[in-house]
Amino acid sequence: MDTSRYSRLTLTERKDFSDDLAVFHCSSDEPVEFTPGQYATIGLIDDERDRPLLRPYSVVNAPGSTDLEFFIERVDDGDLTPELWTLSEGDDLWMRDKIVGRFVLDDTYRQHVMVATVTGVGPYVSIVRDQIRRLNNGRIDDPHRMLVLHGGSRSWELGTYRVELSRLADTYDWLNYVPTVSRPWEDPDWDGEMGRVGDVLRKHVDAHGFAPEDTAAYTCGHPQMIDKAQGMFERAGFSEDAIHEEKYFVERAHASA
Ligand SMILES: Cc1cc2nc3c(=O)[nH]c(=O)nc-3n(C[C@H](O)[C@H](O)[C@H](O)COP(=O)(O)OP(=O)(O)OC[C@H]3O[C@@H](n4cnc5c(N)ncnc54)[C@H](O)[C@@H]3O)c2cc1C
Repeated sequence: MDTSRYSRLTLTERKDFSDDLAVFHCSSDEPVEFTPGQYATIGLIDDERDRPLLRPYSVVNAPGSTDLEFFIERVDDGDLTPELWTLSEGDDLWMRDKIVGRFVLDDTYRQHVMVATVTGVGPYVSIVRDQIRRLNNGRIDDPHRMLVLHGGSRSWELGTYRVELSRLADTYDWLNYVPTVSRPWEDPDWDGEMGRVGDVLRKHVDAHGFAPEDTAAYTCGHPQMIDKAQGMFERAGFSEDAIHEEKYFVERAHASA
């Protein structure tokens, strides 16, 4: 199969957060450049297939690295993800040469509210890590203010990103992070925010002082959350142009009885 439009990646590590959530670390021969928030199209290409099996995934790392990081949920009856879970360290993955997407920081604003379900936190981690890198190397001295709201059914689904973003929010006053769990009865040790992220959003936007007229809003991940959160942003007075979305899939129509 012709692979000239693709780059070869090597799977270096898979970190499992649950049976169906994992971070895939891959290495590339060359540093990979993109704008934080964009997605790569990755998957499997081999001679046994008629065509490449590829899907889009948000890049979690900051640009310019040979280590690429993807936070992926396995869809049991999906085509690609069950195959990704059979890969071992050292196996090949392929990536379309161009990393693309418009779900990037809207820099007409200095304040940003970013809402995610589970894996949808990936673009925000990339944006936060990139801002820290640019502060550290002196390329910026006036950081954008960010509130990241991150929802999952149980706390372990938020993975190591919960720990990382909590620690960064303690370190940097421009970053606020709110993890929330919608099934606390399945996570009895959880003592943080409870409820679906779309339901607790308004309270935190108000409490952290992100005024609608000065703030861009972002929603990423599950389509139901996105529809709900966007309704909330509109009712709160956010400008339509300042509301951005990255829907990871379209819900399947349920067969009627
Ligand atoms: C711009 C963009 C960025 C994305 N980034 C990520 C990412 O960072 N991490 C990630 O895990 N996924 C991400 N996705 C979703 C990803 O591209 C695949 O759709 C997903 O991994 C399923 O692929 P599959 O081949 O296993 O299933 P498919 O065979 O493509 O899908 C089978 C069915 O499952 C549904 N489906 C797909 N994903 C889910 C889901 N999570 N839950 C329930 N049903 C689903 C689809 O609607 C489809 O009907 C992104 C999608 C887009 C459009």
